[in-house]
Amino acid sequence: MRAADLIGRKRDREALSAEEWRWFVHGFVQGEVADYQMAAMLMAVRLRGMGAAETAALTSAMASSGEMLDLGALGAADKHSTGGVGDKVTLVVAPVVAACGLPVAKMTGRGLAHTGGTVDKLESIRGLRMDLGQDEFRRILDQHGLVLSGQSPTLAPADAGMYALRDVTATVDSLPLIAASIMSKKLAVGAAVIMLDVKTGNGAFMKTLPEARRLARLMVRIGQEAGRKMAAVITDMDEPLGRAVGNALELAEALVLLRGGGPDDLRALCLDESAHLLHLAGRFATVPAARLAAECVIASGAALELLRRVVVAQGGDVRQIDDPARLPTAPVQHAVTAPGAGYIARIDALAVGRLVMSLGAGRAVRSDPIRHDTGVVLLKQRGDFLLPNEPLALIHAASTYAATQAASAMLAAIRWSEERPPPRRLLIEHVSG
Ligand code: URA
Repeated sequence: MRAADLIGRKRDREALSAEEWRWFVHGFVQGEVADYQMAAMLMAVRLRGMGAAETAALTSAMASSGEMLDLGALGAADKHSTGGVGDKVTLVVAPVVAACGLPVAKMTGRGLAHTGGTVDKLESIRGLRMDLGQDEFRRILDQHGLVLSGQSPTLAPADAGMYALRDVTATVDSLPLIAASIMSKKLAVGAAVIMLDVKTGNGAFMKTLPEARRLARLMVRIGQEAGRKMAAVITDMDEPLGRAVGNALELAEALVLLRGGGPDDLRALCLDESAHLLHLAGRFATVPAARLAAECVIASGAALELLRRVVVAQGGDVRQIDDPARLPTAPVQHAVTAPGAGYIARIDALAVGRLVMSLGAGRAVRSDPIRHDTGVVLLKQRGDFLLPNEPLALIHAASTYAATQAASAMLAAIRWSEERPPPRRLLIEHVSG
């Protein structure tokens, strides 16, 4: 086989076979297919698209490009979000589900573009090791029924290389490439049961509901064909999720949720995703029974206690879990106030994600260092009525200059109305295959 021939066939809209994809992707990892050839192939896929069977073949080639964990015997579960602004659902669902008796093996990513990453949020905890080797990953999972780790470089290494090329060749926004990227990592981790949270809206990679549906269905199908139990939810990411956006701030909000507090709609979403995952895994006969169990492990403190134990096992400072005031705190806190009276009709998720990035909480390029202490806490949300000068958000910043810049961006992110807007629906629909 020759790389140039395969690229040419893809350019001419042909479907490549599973064997051809395996040859191309494995050759890329071994350095036999050059970066520029992979970049050309990615652009061909981005422009020509690709069907479900071929996407499954690409996914399988990427998954098998490195080591593969087999957690099948444990029946372990995984939960994945396609990424958004203020999305701390994984930080709640993982310990809740594990405390209900379903092992959760979570390998998770860093922030991408304006979206936050679970690794970055968890690394707000002093000393917490997120670069676990496979033996330690398995041992903590065996001992505690929950493990939270960054992506291992030995699992699906093709994705890391391909993602880096996509990032600089305008080929990120391709549905088959996104599906293959996410699902190759899920399949390599080896969880038997997978719940996907596909975000839609302007703060998500999938801007429209039809696109989100197509991505959700494609990933569910790829997982099912690989013998996994799959479900997906499509959830709203047109506005930030919850009140906090920023690494330590989001972790603190997740801890509030694990203590039974937090915004009602976000708590309901966390319970819903937990319940569906537990039901999908066959741990409970019905979703309502699973939801009751999820509520119980929050009310009893069992979910929080499990997270504490895992933080200790991974070397983290558990005092920051017990007292979130010990989490990193930005030097400047600046209140943003309402310019006039009115209802908040919408808070633009993409704008908030970008302003939080500009405060240092995200990266412009992968090697950028990030701050864990900065971000924004929304004191008011869509549907709230404000009087002039009433505080609506608190900016956490490294300097007064950064805070005032972010405050203007925050005000620009809000649309006002004289009438109360309809309530927001976080959970849009379930997708099961
Ligand atoms: N998340 C991933 O892991 N890959 C993508 O391509 C997009 C989101």
